[in-house]
Amino acid sequence: MKTNFCIIFSTRPEIIKLFPIIKVLSKRNKKFFFINTGQHYDFRMHKIFYNQFKLKKAKYNFKRNKLSGINYISSCLKFINNVLNKENPTHVIVQGDTDTTLCGALATNIHNRKKTKKEKIKILHVEAGLRSFDEEMPEEINRKLVDNLSDYLFVPTNFEFNNLKKENLLNPKKVKIVGNTIIESLTNLNLKKVPTSKNNNFFLLTLHRPETVDDINKFSKLLLDLNYLAKKNEHNILFPIHPRTKKKILKKTLVKLDKFKIINPVDYIKFISLLLSCKLVLTDSGGIQEESFILNKPCITLRNNTERQITTFNKSNIVSGYEKSKIEKSIQYFLKRKIKNPNIFGKNVSKKILSAI
Ligand code: UDP
Repeated sequence: MKTNFCIIFSTRPEIIKLFPIIKVLSKRNKKFFFINTGQHYDFRMHKIFYNQFKLKKAKYNFKRNKLSGINYISSCLKFINNVLNKENPTHVIVQGDTDTTLCGALATNIHNRKKTKKEKIKILHVEAGLRSFDEEMPEEINRKLVDNLSDYLFVPTNFEFNNLKKENLLNPKKVKIVGNTIIESLTNLNLKKVPTSKNNNFFLLTLHRPETVDDINKFSKLLLDLNYLAKKNEHNILFPIHPRTKKKILKKTLVKLDKFKIINPVDYIKFISLLLSCKLVLTDSGGIQEESFILNKPCITLRNNTERQITTFNKSNIVSGYEKSKIEKSIQYFLKRKIKNPNIFGKNVSKKILSAI
């Protein structure tokens, strides 16, 4: 049977990390189509990346209509299930740990229940096996469920392979260590051509996880602490702000952030140029921990844990938690050091994924 890939995605990190696979599928003249689940709908979180990577339009677009939580997930599942019934692809590709990833894998599993073994759609999970071991994080639950639902688990390194081994997921699933497509997203940019600024007197900040921004008082304290630390260390803070984070900043906090420059989220080339230029990164993002590692940029992860443990072993990514004294110690540590990391994210990742099936 001729393969036909259905790629289910929507959020910023999914577009960035699936783009290299889509590029290989196009080059090989493979049949594929997209389902856009509408999880990220803001132009700067979604369409800007479609345009930048010159992706073809999604064949199916789920209109989110302000649905959230269980209402979003249940309607999205139904939507995907209807498309799968109509299109009958041979493979579904999902990436990472979002609600979109979960909806894609679960809707396919439900579709498959009425099918014979031969008719079942194969589910591919890209970036499988990551674990923060913190089940308070919705993403951790999504990762575990999707790993259980998928047929092919593509893990970045031996470390995530062992996570799956401990959960007895190696058999009967096909688990392959392939690296992480983020390395290809970056190399596709041709890093030498990405403009950098001579002014590197700034810390680059991104925050969006519920555990960081949803408690307004905790979040305000964190911002004021960061402002204090920037002042003390004679740096500014550049903060491309995620739409969900923007809604959480109190006006009375905002006026006190005199070391902050807050800007809208930027496109990928612009973000990587900021990453290359800044003194260090402060973030609660998953993907940015990896990009900092690859680009030898010091990273302070403003969380209590990370599922990207492999980026911490070289001490170029420090998981500081939220306490001012720990963040300060991490800043001091990095201001005195240069970072040189090995390549742990592999190469030809997309080709390895597609030749494994
Ligand atoms: N990113 C971007 N513009 C921005 C901020 C981030 O292009 O203004 C990119 C960044 O390079 C990384 C990805 O978005 O590849 C990370 O997305 P996010 O932090 O939203 O998600 P996570 O990785 O935590 O799932």
